[in-house]
Amino acid sequence: MEFFESLSQYKRRKTNDVCIGNLMMGSNFPIRVQSMTTTNTLDTEDSAAQCKRIFDAGADLVRLTAQGVREAENLANIRHLLLQQGYNKPLVADIHFNPNAADVAALHVEKVRINPGNFIDKRASFIDINLNDEEYAEELARLREKFVTLINICKNNNTAIRIGVNHGSLSDRIMSRYGDTPEGMVESAIEFLRICVEEGFFNVVLSMKSSNVRVMVHAYRQLVRRMKQEKMQFPLHLGVTEAGEGEGGRVKSAVGIGALLADGIGDTIRVSLTEEPEAEIPVAKALVGYFNNRQNHGKIAQVDASFYNPYSYLKIESRAVANIGGDNPPVVVCDLSAQESITNDIISNLGYQLTEKENGWEKVIDTAPDYLFVGKADISLSTKTGLYIIDNPHNTPLFVWLDAADNMDTIASNLSQNPQAIAIIRTSNINGLAEQRAAILNLRSKKVFNPIIIQRQYSENDVSLLQLKSAADCGPLFIDGLPDGIMISNDGGIGSAQVVSTAFSILQAARVRISKTEFISCPGCGRTLFNLQQTAALIRERTKHLTGLKIGIMGCIVNGPGEMADADYGYVGAGPKKVTLYKGKIAVKKNIPQEEALEELISLIKENGDWKE
Ligand code: SF4
Repeated sequence: MEFFESLSQYKRRKTNDVCIGNLMMGSNFPIRVQSMTTTNTLDTEDSAAQCKRIFDAGADLVRLTAQGVREAENLANIRHLLLQQGYNKPLVADIHFNPNAADVAALHVEKVRINPGNFIDKRASFIDINLNDEEYAEELARLREKFVTLINICKNNNTAIRIGVNHGSLSDRIMSRYGDTPEGMVESAIEFLRICVEEGFFNVVLSMKSSNVRVMVHAYRQLVRRMKQEKMQFPLHLGVTEAGEGEGGRVKSAVGIGALLADGIGDTIRVSLTEEPEAEIPVAKALVGYFNNRQNHGKIAQVDASFYNPYSYLKIESRAVANIGGDNPPVVVCDLSAQESITNDIISNLGYQLTEKENGWEKVIDTAPDYLFVGKADISLSTKTGLYIIDNPHNTPLFVWLDAADNMDTIASNLSQNPQAIAIIRTSNINGLAEQRAAILNLRSKKVFNPIIIQRQYSENDVSLLQLKSAADCGPLFIDGLPDGIMISNDGGIGSAQVVSTAFSILQAARVRISKTEFISCPGCGRTLFNLQQTAALIRERTKHLTGLKIGIMGCIVNGPGEMADADYGYVGAGPKKVTLYKGKIAVKKNIPQEEALEELISLIKENGDWKE
């Protein structure tokens, strides 16, 4: 396997060291956590105060937007004020569309993030352009000239650079040859990396962000493979852009970042949430902490992975049994085995309604579980028509419990003799993801196609931690198209409906089953033109029933339209108190007053036939 050393043994990917002021980054150091301010970078006091809050929460570095030379210059004042108050951790400037601002910022802060999609290129036009080889080379020469200027300033000032690729803001040049694909994202970084290497500049970190978790994971993996081929070892900054807030934001981030950390990839992370920036830090620290000591995991079987392609999505073949496996979307099993009896109330709380007409239980919300695992509980439901109950898997012919550590040769022959059996695979390995992955790959390599449900056990009282851990454990397996169902068991004090909701969010983040409205909302920064958290909450409240629709909520028109990627509708800050609404990538209602924008968005969705009451 090219992007990681082993599928069976956790090991951090080897990188070179990068020096960011007084902070070292890379595989010889702990994984760093960071966030970004939402203040106006021209407001020194406000920005320094927010940086302090983020540092106090435990961040190792903080990024600030520098949209122009004035903001870049003011970073010196913010740095000075922070030093006066005893804060000397590194600051990072975030640059888009303005290489001159990057040159200035590099004098005042420890790291400069540039976006290769708009460092010298204007905003992508999303129209097909065709560059011949000569034109393409001319653009690269232009890029080189500007970028070498920045590299020289960084060399002279010991400033690091992050080459921060965003799926939503690739240049027309890249899109003309590669489309907005993971391959295009990798190429976008490589154009800049080659210049760094030619110039002997190695103080470089890379990122490959996307709000589409699948694209993000594949882009990072492809980049690692490509760097290996080109003998490069730059550290990686991980993040899912515009992840949103609450459960959706945490789950999306944990699936994407977790999929990479699980294979030892990643040297710093940012969890982008549409919440206060300091609220991102405990989430990021919890996620990083979950992978601490993973190298001490129990032995995992060697894997035959010749048919496994981790660089693009492919559902691994399975046979359909009932509505599980085959072409069916993955099922969600709700674990009610701790309940002594199953009452109608419990079932109602999970999103079912008893219908007299049908004489059975009917799903009334899309996120009601498909199966209930009731163990030995007394089932006192008045009827169970239409509801699938797993009683006790050991005693039923259909479902069988397997341990991922079991000998798969024996299991394979048993399952082959029982083609109707559905395997529920559990694990107690601290590297459970790798153990379950190995078990599934080994069964499939032996041509065993029985459906497989993965089960994980937690003892959490904190919902946010349950979301992070289960998403990091289970989501990556769905990104790789491996299991046919998910069962999250938790013996802490979290209600079953919440646990089931997390399972559905994991499937949605991995894009294997869409059961909720998807909100792609940016975390906000110094460019944000409205109260993002409040607006996102209002839009969410009015549109959360529109299952499957993707709604982008972006703070500014500079980066918003590109970065909301494949949203169906977009609500984008266009100016003070002004909003522009998008249908796909087209701005259809421009500069409307903010107080009318939500109703206008709803009208737009209705006009296009996507509204449901
Ligand atoms: S979309 Fe605009 S406001 Fe939102 S984080 Fe990106 S640059 Fe900042």
